[in-house]
Order: sequence, then structure tokens, then C-alpha cells
Amino acid sequence: MRKLTGKELAAAIKTQTAAEVAAGPQPRLAVVVATDDEASLWYVRSIAKAAAGLGIAADLVDLGPGARAEQIRETLARLGADAGVHGVMLQTPLPAGISAQEMAAAIDPRKDIDGANPLSLGRLAAGLPAFVPATAAAVMALLDHYGVELAGRRAVVVGRSTVVGKPLAHLLLDRHATVTVSHSRTRDLAAVTSAAEVLVVAVGRTGLIGAEHVAPGAVVIDVGTNPTGDGGLAGDVDFDAVAGVAGALTPVPGGVGPVTTALLLRHTARAANLP
Ligand code: NAD
Repeated sequence: MRKLTGKELAAAIKTQTAAEVAAGPQPRLAVVVATDDEASLWYVRSIAKAAAGLGIAADLVDLGPGARAEQIRETLARLGADAGVHGVMLQTPLPAGISAQEMAAAIDPRKDIDGANPLSLGRLAAGLPAFVPATAAAVMALLDHYGVELAGRRAVVVGRSTVVGKPLAHLLLDRHATVTVSHSRTRDLAAVTSAAEVLVVAVGRTGLIGAEHVAPGAVVIDVGTNPTGDGGLAGDVDFDAVAGVAGALTPVPGGVGPVTTALLLRHTARAANLP
């Protein structure tokens, strides 16, 4: 079984991005936060730290867990109008009752480095240039890095969220895979997933995918990041069980995650250099 780690790829993307940053105007990323969820705050701080390492300025715009929809929308619009800000990201979760999709429509598409504006997803679905959600882009980058063939192959995506599952289905289709999307209402998940030559899991349930879900030799990408309660992370795939069946498998942590962060920063550098 081949372990598909993301660290080397993430490092390569960062090195290339640092060179792009050094050659142009300093990019500035604004991350809007409206939560006190510790895992989310940890994540945005880690992005800011990684950005600083590449010469990208990063501002955390913390509206607090009591933020109202109007306030979030106005903040995103203000950042869109600010010529000194090149990338804008809205961290989830948002306060109860506020739709992330509705809010993300207020992100300027030219600064939408995590492809969250519905316009970006629409353009992706239509095959037009757009910023792609960084996690979905990271899955594709990992598959390419390890030379995984996609054309004509059976790919199954587990999860249909707007941030991961749906954009990924489009990206895999664009590469001529035969794509099936499964989700919480899928009957007999194991029957669907065990037909996959390439299986991508983005659900958010520790150990959902066991050996019985995986075909011998399949390439398995685990997007899930589930807090273990002791400061660690676990994936959606039972690594030890699936390692005995799969041909290749990403670890959690150290698989998709580092590549996602690196691509967010690459997108920010590219946004700063848009004509
Ligand atoms: P989400 O909650 O928005 O979507 C989960 C999806 O899983 C839904 O479409 C649902 O239908 C499906 N689902 C739920 N239970 C299921 C079941 N029993 N069987 C099959 N499908 C089921 O989550 P999301 O935002 O797409 O994130 C998914 C996971 O990926 C989470 O663990 C999240 O933390 C992680 N994530 C990781 C990164 C990264 O960079 N590594 C980035 C974003 C999200």
C-alpha cells in the first residue's frame, strides 16, 4: 500500500508561491471569522502563520460568534472594495441560522480564493476559469502528484457538500472520470464505494469507511478531519483496516490538509497578480 502524504507537495507549492510573491506586489489575504469554535480558530491562525512564511500579509477579521448576517455581508463587501486586499475568505461555521452560501455571494469573485461564491462554483460547473475550493483542488493536486490515472476510471465521491463533494465531482468529470456521488441517503454505501477505482471521502465521521467499503488496489483519498478530543485529528477512513486492501491511501493528518493550505496561499498570490 502506497501512503500518499501531502507534505512534500505542499512544500513544493509553497516554494513556488513564495517565488511568485517575491516577484510581485505583496498579496494581502483577509479571513473573516464569526465563531468561537476552537478548531476553526486554530485553522485560520495556521493559515495566517503559513501566509506570513511566504511573505503574504494575512488579516483575521474577527466579528465574533454573535455577528449578524448584515454585518458579515457588509464586511465582505468592504473587503471586496478595498484595493489593498487581494484574497477574501469566509471561515465556517457561521452563527446559527446564517447561510454560508448566502454570505459567500458577497465575496468579490476576483478575490474568492476558496471558491466559495456560488458564482465560482457555477463557473466551475460550466467549465469556465474560476477559483476552485481549495480542498477540492488539493484532492486533484494530490492525485496528479502521485500520477493517478483518471480518464475513463470509476471515481466515487462520498459527501455532496458545496465546499468539497460537489466541486470535486465537477473536477473529476473534467478529467474524464466516471463519477458517482454518494451521501447520507445513499443505500448500501459499501456496494457503491467498493466499485470505485478512485475513492474520495469527505463526510466528517471518524472511521466511516472500513475495509468492506474498498476494492482491492483502489486509490483512497481521505478528506475528513475529525477532532479526536486530545488535540489530534482522525480521518473518515479507518486507516489500518483500509491499508490492508487499498493500493494507495492518504493519511490524516498529513494528507489533503497541508495541500489545501498551500493552495489557498497560491490562490491568494494569483489573485494579487490578476490583470
Ligand atoms: P458537510 O457536513 O458539509 O458534508 C458532509 C457530507 O457527508 C454531506 O454531503 C452528507 O450527505 C454526507 N454524509 C453524512 N453522513 C454520511 C454517511 N453516513 N454516509 C455517506 N455520506 C454521508 O462537510 P464538509 O464541509 O464537506 O466536510 C467533510 C469533511 O471534510 C469534514 O470532516 C471536514 O472537517 C473535512 N474537511 C477537510 C478539509 C481539509 O483541508 N482537509 C477541508 C474542508 C473540510
